[in-house]
Amino acid sequence: MSEQLSRNDTVARLRETVAALHAELVRYNLVAWTSGNVSARVPGHDLMVIKPSGISYDDLRPDNMVVCDLDGVVVEGDLSPSSDTEAHAYVYRAMPDVGGVVHTHSGYATAWAACGEPIPCYLTAQADEFGGEIPVGPFALIGGDDIGKGIVATLSGHRSPAVLMRNHGVFTVGPNAKAAVKAAVMCEDVARTAHLARALGQPLPIAAEGVDSLYARYQNVYGQSTVPSPRR
Ligand SMILES: [Zn+2]
Repeated sequence: MSEQLSRNDTVARLRETVAALHAELVRYNLVAWTSGNVSARVPGHDLMVIKPSGISYDDLRPDNMVVCDLDGVVVEGDLSPSSDTEAHAYVYRAMPDVGGVVHTHSGYATAWAACGEPIPCYLTAQADEFGGEIPVGPFALIGGDDIGKGIVATLSGHRSPAVLMRNHGVFTVGPNAKAAVKAAVMCEDVARTAHLARALGQPLPIAAEGVDSLYARYQNVYGQSTVPSPRR
């Protein structure tokens, strides 16, 4: 198979994946109107597939996703890419292991961002998924590299795949776009429960050793093994 053909196949598959994952943002109530976006890196090529700007979620289809290079320049598609494209592109350039990026203004997590407060690790599910607190990134204006720089500076060397960008909203990363969407869903879930716990009383942070042990177990052991073990 020629390299061009294989690139076209990969892009076609990722157009479907990225279009379909946007429905998850709606299903989990993470977005209002046209806010929020998902992108995926095209593995092996300096390209990404991202949502078009200002198009209703109901109208997102594989064929109207936009393909950009990692400077955010459109290489395939008639529509303008998401206004957050520069931030996604910066993350892909700076974090080679990241294969998917998601941005939302989901309500509870963004309320923590508005207060500039990291979400302390009160819940085992947060220790599992985020390995500790969910950090806050700097205030940054849209356009240029400032948002991307803030995301990368905050998440580099941090276990959390989610950052609360101050006064703005949530950016999540993952090895692929689905994992980044899962992180966005889980971030909103723990933000909501942490808020409810604060309203109810004084929530108890999990001690660091407990967080480490939960994180290690969840990242390495939890879930279905991909290779079925033989019956004994
Ligand atoms: Zn935003």
